Amino acid sequence: MDGPAGAGKSTVARLLAARLGFLYLDTGSMYRALAHKALVNGVDLRDEAALAELLEETTIELYPAPQGQVRVIMDGHDVTDALRRPEVTASVAQVAGFPRVRQEMVARQRELASQGGVVMDGRDIGTFVLPEAEVKFYLTASLEARAHRRYQELSQLGYTVSLDRIREEIQHRDMLDSSRPYAPLSRARDAVVVDTTHMDVEEVVAIMLNTCRQRLGE
Ligand code: C5P
Repeated sequence: MDGPAGAGKSTVARLLAARLGFLYLDTGSMYRALAHKALVNGVDLRDEAALAELLEETTIELYPAPQGQVRVIMDGHDVTDALRRPEVTASVAQVAGFPRVRQEMVARQRELASQGGVVMDGRDIGTFVLPEAEVKFYLTASLEARAHRRYQELSQLGYTVSLDRIREEIQHRDMLDSSRPYAPLSRARDAVVVDTTHMDVEEVVAIMLNTCRQRLGE
């Protein structure tokens, strides 16, 4: 499952995985974990070699938690909550733009998916990480709807945020993710496009579940 920021991927991917009895793998959290570690350690975010070396010595594990949540354990510590911090969100696309970082992340993601039975979400899953996936979705929504959702999500987490700032941040991140030369955000030709602007979560999940059942022959 791919799509721009705030399209609702993680929410629906989590529910879809639970209903299919699959594992949910949130690849964005892997890039966020590296960005977080780089910020904490004062690593230059423009230095591809330094970031790639940092990643080499970093373990990132994704664990299912109650209510379909995922806990992210980096180097043995639970960093799940820190990964939503605005500083991390603001720097993650820069970190994720470097080919050496992506090559290592993609190798880890393919390994995680190698047994099958996973719902994976990100930006390059259908086009690059798992081009042979049986079912592909491209989730999108209007910028306004995506900004509103992010605003609500962050407010609920206790962050004081402005809708204008969020809208700008989303636009900027989408621009970086779509324009990077190496494995940019783009729709796989065989992906089913779901525009979630006027749909609630249950409607989106129902459409996806139907598609999965048809394709997977259940
Ligand atoms: O999905 P989420 O918003 O957590 O992703 C954070 C960032 O990680 C994205 O904006 C993008 O820069 C990067 N990312 C990526 N490829 C993926 C998943 C995420 O480049 N497969």
